Amino acid sequence: MILIFLGPPGSGKGTQAKRLIKEMSIPQLSTGDMLRAGIAAGTELGMKAKAFMDKGDLVPDSVVIGLIQERIGASDCKPGFILDGFPRTIPQAEALDRMLSGLGRSVDRVVEFKIDDQELVSRLSGRRTCPKCSAMYHVVTQKPAKDGVCDQCGTQGLIQRTDDQPKVIQDRLAVYHKQTAPLVGFYTQQKKLRSINALDAPEKVTDALKKALK
Ligand code: AMP
Repeated sequence: MILIFLGPPGSGKGTQAKRLIKEMSIPQLSTGDMLRAGIAAGTELGMKAKAFMDKGDLVPDSVVIGLIQERIGASDCKPGFILDGFPRTIPQAEALDRMLSGLGRSVDRVVEFKIDDQELVSRLSGRRTCPKCSAMYHVVTQKPAKDGVCDQCGTQGLIQRTDDQPKVIQDRLAVYHKQTAPLVGFYTQQKKLRSINALDAPEKVTDALKKALK
């Protein structure tokens, strides 16, 4: 099954994708994680992407399309995959359709995570991330068992991503509404879109997600 999780930053796409990949045994393809890995490794692509990411802007389409193109041909993607954070523009969605059709495949379902901006600002500004495995926490609502230590991989020193700073959050939300929200119409036209309420507790969102995928 090829799935797209579509929603603003902080809507819980990544958290839900992590839950679902365990059950479905398919990989999660997060362009944000791929780009951050490039930055951490100091690659040329990572350095180019960093300037855009730090400002909350989108990285150029050609860069992320190239990353996805390379990744979806890998053998672990044969049973399907969850796209988390891609596509984010209409040209990316069109490129994805072309890439998949070249492989004799197509997107099965797109799930829109619906949530208002006010909640997103509070979620993102309190978010802390594991620099190693990208597990996510929140300073109030989802603390790790041991202060500052990742429950998943034991890494010490959870970080606040540069793009989770208040000023950048506003810019990322504006970018979402302008450049990514039009994908709702794109996938509605393809009759692939289902919307879920992403404001609920994570367990409830998982239930809604599973229903949306049936
Ligand atoms: P995320 O972890 O998905 O919130 O992505 C973090 C940042 O990476 C975004 O704010 C963008 O700067 C960049 N990024 C991730 N995915 C894409 C994409 N599909 N298109 C353009 N930029 C992206």
